[in-house]
Amino acid sequence: AEPAATATAPTPMMAQYFEIKAVNPGYLLFYRMGDFYELFFEDAEIASAALGIVLTKRGRHQGEDIPMCGVPIHAANDYLNRLIKLGHRVAICEQVEDPAEARKRGSKSVVKRDVVRLVTPGTLTEDDHLDARSANYLAALSMVRHGETDFALAWADISTGETFIADLPAEALADEMARIAPAELLLTEATSAALAERHLLPPAWKELAATLPQEALDSEAALPLLRRVFAASGFDPTSLSRAGRAALGALVAYVEDSQKGRQAPLRPPRAQAEAVLAIDAATRGSLELLQTQRGEARGSLRHAIDLTVSAPGARLLASRLAAPLRDADAINARLDAVGRLVEDTLLRARLRQELKAAPDLARALSRLALERGGPRDLAAIGRAVAAALDLAGQLAAQPDLPPVLARLTGILKEAPGPLASELALALDDDLPLLSRDGGFVRPGYDGGLDEERSLGRETRAVVAALQARLVDETDIRSLKIRHNGVLGYFVEVPAAHGGRLLEPPLRETFIHRQTLANAMRFTTTELAELEGRIARAQQAALEIELAVFARLRGAVLEATPHLQGLADALAELDVTAALAEISATRFYCRPQVDDSLAFAVSGGRHPVVELTVKAEGRSFVANDADLSGSEAAGGGSLWLVTGPNMGGKSTFLRQNALIAIMAQMGCFVPADAAHIGVVDRLFSRVGASDDIAHGRSTFMVEMVETAAILNRATRRSLVVLDEIGRGTATFDGLSIAWASVEALHETTGCRALFATHFHELTSLAKTLSRVANVTMKVREWEGEVVFLHEVGPGAADRSYGIQVARLAGLPEPVIARARQVLDLLEQRSAGTASSGQKASVLDDLPLFAHRPAPAPQGTDPVHEALDAVRPDEMTPREAIEALYQLKKLR
Ligand code: ADP
Repeated sequence: AEPAATATAPTPMMAQYFEIKAVNPGYLLFYRMGDFYELFFEDAEIASAALGIVLTKRGRHQGEDIPMCGVPIHAANDYLNRLIKLGHRVAICEQVEDPAEARKRGSKSVVKRDVVRLVTPGTLTEDDHLDARSANYLAALSMVRHGETDFALAWADISTGETFIADLPAEALADEMARIAPAELLLTEATSAALAERHLLPPAWKELAATLPQEALDSEAALPLLRRVFAASGFDPTSLSRAGRAALGALVAYVEDSQKGRQAPLRPPRAQAEAVLAIDAATRGSLELLQTQRGEARGSLRHAIDLTVSAPGARLLASRLAAPLRDADAINARLDAVGRLVEDTLLRARLRQELKAAPDLARALSRLALERGGPRDLAAIGRAVAAALDLAGQLAAQPDLPPVLARLTGILKEAPGPLASELALALDDDLPLLSRDGGFVRPGYDGGLDEERSLGRETRAVVAALQARLVDETDIRSLKIRHNGVLGYFVEVPAAHGGRLLEPPLRETFIHRQTLANAMRFTTTELAELEGRIARAQQAALEIELAVFARLRGAVLEATPHLQGLADALAELDVTAALAEISATRFYCRPQVDDSLAFAVSGGRHPVVELTVKAEGRSFVANDADLSGSEAAGGGSLWLVTGPNMGGKSTFLRQNALIAIMAQMGCFVPADAAHIGVVDRLFSRVGASDDIAHGRSTFMVEMVETAAILNRATRRSLVVLDEIGRGTATFDGLSIAWASVEALHETTGCRALFATHFHELTSLAKTLSRVANVTMKVREWEGEVVFLHEVGPGAADRSYGIQVARLAGLPEPVIARARQVLDLLEQRSAGTASSGQKASVLDDLPLFAHRPAPAPQGTDPVHEALDAVRPDEMTPREAIEALYQLKKLR
């Protein structure tokens, strides 16, 4: 809440502050005063607490002290970064005129100030603020009630210009958001309310959300804006759905507003061209694709397989990992390219060496476009282009390149060589960060500049000669001509000699400037004139340099779309070579990927656990999995995995899910051989992890998640369930696990791995034809249990809980007592045969009853019409019509 000016009118400066603050609600205002950004009132309190800087006061407002804190300009970036990371948004307010101008207007007037940039988590561009190896997306979500689609999501990384758009049904929102993982989400109050009402607004989104007014998401108003912004690319915004236009329009407007007139190099939006493997948020978390469940990079799949050598390559790898493909041809095209580089070790090494030296073209380009780039960004672009040409040369020399590599070669070959040469000629070897002070144009590049520079140099030589002459004239050996920022050039003599220069005749030549404790400083007419010449030459040189910078920047920006395409190609080549590198060095194999329903992995390993196990000096035990339902595999497509804790169940389950992901992103897989029929959706769940933070009980979470799988999995899906039903009383858990297995088997018919410690479940294999039992083998040795980590047919007969407890270091008396109790329980149950009864009761349970009842034979018109329907051959429109027809028949 901001105090309004009433009784005591605010000072003119405070009045200006309030005015600017009022039009930037929700932002901490960095208000420029001299060498500081100052924050006032509540902003000051927030920032001083967040940054641990001193809260002071400045003046009074309405009889109260005004709280204030400030950050020095030179360290502002660092403070800014910390505030943004904490989720704050900052408006940077600069002085936009020379203070002298303000003084001319009168003694009371204040320097004009304006907000020059809004800094938010989704609109960052500086390297200091960004992770080089991750994208930073700003997303906008629109909701249109009468459109072709309910929701549309537009997202862009303004640090690279990449822009995307997707129409989404409500139920796909959460998965898509989990895939994109934006840093900031724009949406209206009404949209959040609608999502919250349908339980579609996860708490994590709320933290990312920036609320926009309703009019910011307007499909009509968006059109002219989108036409203007994407004019050069020829993108037609009317090709988007209404929701799509509204979302993209809001996104672009927000970016423009945040950059205050500077143009981010947004590329025309891409819709996800290829169908992708659907992986929901819970699955991403449980498989630890990009980070572990504790939020660390280390231990994730990405960390284990990212051998890219450039930041853009790392970003692309992450996005491929987040969105593996579903189209067998597209996957095989990628695998062909990777395979070629697996075979050609030498070519791979050469490409990787060159790629390593190629700078981050897209981010340099974006900084230049936003007027935040310097000479180093220009040079980076030149080097990236040169690297591209070099890479094209190496690839073009290879015979019979697979299509992906041939395509990349074609793009790289078109890199603008003349631009790169120009940049190399123009820019010096050692470059300053900013163009502001000059000193970056290479000698010999610009005749006029060389002249001014030599004029400056010569004049400096004349100054040196002048010193020698003055020493002679005054006979003061210690006389020196020196320079500093305040006085410019001056003559300095020790205090003891100073007096003579104040006396005639030397007084005629020397003009007194300053007296210090042990020195006196003078100037002379000649020196002042030389100084003027030097300053003029410097100024002229700087102007030439800035003109050179502007011209080169213009040439680079002119080539923006071309350079962005090049950046993509470089990243793709890096990813391809990196995947080949990992396949070659870790003995991965090329998976056979097709449209079958096969899932046969022999000698499979877990790509992450394998590394840790090896690092500990042990060897990883490879295991087969075959869910193809083939005779050879015993007809199983749903494997029930039993075995003691620590036996390796989770590892086995996850490694198969990860192998599917890796294969479908176009990577070789950690196995001796793998045949994978493309998976459309992947589900992975681990039972019983408490979600207390979100206020849901373990059991509730498990059931919500299991429901999601049973409702959404198709025959093409791969489902991996680890200990579902563990979070509740034994019988409830068992029953639910039991029913879930039946449903997966009977209704969904998908490929599945189901680990459980309910040994009773294994009797399902007797009644369900495609269920097979496997178990993690263990060996008992002198009362100790040894885990073999080997998957074999059959069911575990016991759980070795006590042995595991002992391994975990439970005190010996507790172990001994537990043994007694267990013996007792086992004797009792044998005596009363209750456990046998339990099993037989379960054996007799009727099958899961969700199979559709057979259609009655006969004349029922509805059934006849239904029989005639061929869903596979219908367009959506025909389907709708058929539905109406059916409805009429009732
Ligand atoms: P479970 O799910 O049965 O409790 P985990 O899969 O968590 O067991 O495995 C426990 C540990 O056993 C792992 O952390 C790993 O160190 C080791 N392990 C699992 N599988 C293997 C394997 N195939 N080869 C070697 N070590 C393994």
